[in-house]
Amino acid sequence: MRVLVVEDEVKMASLIRRGLKADGMAADVAIKGEDALWMAGSTEYDVIVLDVMLPGMDGFQVCKRLREDGVWAPVLMLTARDAIEDRVQGLDTGADDYLTKPFSFAELSARLRALARRGPIEQPAVLRAGDLHLDPASKRVWRGTTDISLSAKEYALLETFMRRPGQVLDRFQLLEHAWDYEYENRSNVIDVYVRYLREKVDRPFGVDSIETVRGAGYRLRADGGRTDQA
Ligand code: CA
Repeated sequence: MRVLVVEDEVKMASLIRRGLKADGMAADVAIKGEDALWMAGSTEYDVIVLDVMLPGMDGFQVCKRLREDGVWAPVLMLTARDAIEDRVQGLDTGADDYLTKPFSFAELSARLRALARRGPIEQPAVLRAGDLHLDPASKRVWRGTTDISLSAKEYALLETFMRRPGQVLDRFQLLEHAWDYEYENRSNVIDVYVRYLREKVDRPFGVDSIETVRGAGYRLRADGGRTDQA
């Protein structure tokens, strides 16, 4: 098991590294976010320990960049403050777990093993289908460089599609994921909202990403409707 430790405090970094080695793991240390990016890009780490407080690019930015670069090794974030916002931000930028400093080494080691067992899971923090993007953390939706403003229901429906690109979803599945039990009890509610969505995410861009599958339901094209970019 090979671990990348990203920590600028030399003492702390070598402490972690020594502990991991004593536990039979291989460990490399990066003291800057930029170094972590190229190291993780050129070596397949089983897990990455990422300190939030780094000079220059902080841990949140590093995590976000790793995911954007297609590095899916599980990330455990170390946060100095026991601030809920830090943990939330960490998880939203694509971290898999976090530990608050000071921590017990036994716990760090156990968590790293658990993360490594799980292996890399391709789970982008920002969902995308072609040039159509949806960020569940900020609830922002955009196509290309244009922001799209959606109502809560339209957003919920689009998120349901974007978590399953290319899959045919019937009206019941769409209702189940995007509506709670208080949904408007109209049989055509999905059709109505799909129409609203198309007006916002497709029509202004001259694309057709949400397809009607006769007798089955709807499907969001994985290429976001941009056939030329498929
Ligand atoms: Ca630090």
